[in-house]
Amino acid sequence: MAGGMPQHGLPLYLPMNKPLVEHLGILLSARLGRGTTIRDAIPLYGGSVNDAFRLATDAGPFFLKTNTADRFPSLFVSEERGLGILRRAGVLRVPEVIAQGELDGTTFLLMEHIAQAEEDRGFQHRFGRSLAQLHRHTRGTFGLDHDNFIGLLPQKNTAHADWADFMVLCRLDPLVQLARDNQRINPGDVLRFERLYRRLPELFPAEPPALLHGDLWKNNYLASTTGEPVLIDPAVYYGHREMDLAMTRLFGGFDREFHTAYQEEAPLAPGWEDRVDLCNLYPVLVHLNLFGGSYANRLGALLRRYA
Ligand code: ADP
Repeated sequence: MAGGMPQHGLPLYLPMNKPLVEHLGILLSARLGRGTTIRDAIPLYGGSVNDAFRLATDAGPFFLKTNTADRFPSLFVSEERGLGILRRAGVLRVPEVIAQGELDGTTFLLMEHIAQAEEDRGFQHRFGRSLAQLHRHTRGTFGLDHDNFIGLLPQKNTAHADWADFMVLCRLDPLVQLARDNQRINPGDVLRFERLYRRLPELFPAEPPALLHGDLWKNNYLASTTGEPVLIDPAVYYGHREMDLAMTRLFGGFDREFHTAYQEEAPLAPGWEDRVDLCNLYPVLVHLNLFGGSYANRLGALLRRYA
C-alpha cells in the first residue's frame, strides 16, 4: 500500500504491502459483519520485538503487530493463545483478537485498539487486587499445555508437579545453556547456577500453580480511558505467583499501592522480598540472551546473593 492514496486523500504511511492491507481489510470486514476500509497505518513505538501499528479504519482504530514468518512463524499463534487464556480467566481486561495469520511471509496479529489515558488515583490499587485474583486461577501442575515465547525466546512449558523442577528444567537451565553456547555467561556463573539448582526446593515456599502473565513489566500493561488495567504481550504459564510480582520490580512502573493491594487480596508467604532477585534471575537471563551487554553483570550480582 506504500505510495497509494486512500479514500480521504492523504498519503498512507504504510510500510506494509498492499496485498496485506487488503487481506486485513477482508478479515476485519468478516469479523465486523460489514465492509470495512483500512485508511491508514500509523507506526507505534514502545514494543521490543515486533512492528506495531494503529490502523485507522472507517470502523474506528485497530491495533496491528507484524513480524517475518521465516524467523518466528508461531510467535503470534502463541500470543493469541496466551491472550485467550488470560481473557477467559475473566479478571483483567485483555484486547480482543480480530485475526492472526500469515500472508506472503509476513505474520500478523490484528486486535482491538485500546485507547489509553493517564492512570487515575485508584488505578494501581485496582490492578494489584486484580492480579491477585488472576493468580487464584490454578491447575494441577506447573507449566502449560503448549510451549510459547517470552519476547523472541522460546519458553518451555512442560508440566511438572514441583515448582523447583519446573524452574530449573523449563526456565533457568535452558537459558543458561543458551547463554553458554553463545559465550554470554562466564563459566563461574554457570557453576553458581548448578549449585543454586540444588538449593531451589528449600528457597521457595510451596504454592499452588498460579496463572501468570509471565512477562509483567511496565510496557506490558496499558491504562484504558475507562480506568481499567489492560494486559498485553503475555508469556502465559502456571507458575509460582512470586514470578509475576518480582518482575514488576525489575524495570519500575508499578507503585506501592499496587503491592499493598496485592498483599491485602492474597498475602505472600513471609520472606518474599528476599526472593525477588531469585525470581528475577529468569527475566534477567532472558535479557542477557536477547541483548547481552551489561545484563551479564546484573545476572552475576543477583546470582551471588543465592549461590
Ligand atoms: P512487542 O511485541 O513488540 O513488545 P507490544 O505488544 O508490547 O509489542 O506493543 C507495542 C506497543 O504498542 C506497546 O508498548 C503499546 O504501547 C502499544 N499497544 C500494544 N497493544 C495495543 C493495543 N491493543 N491497543 C493499543 N496500543 C497497543
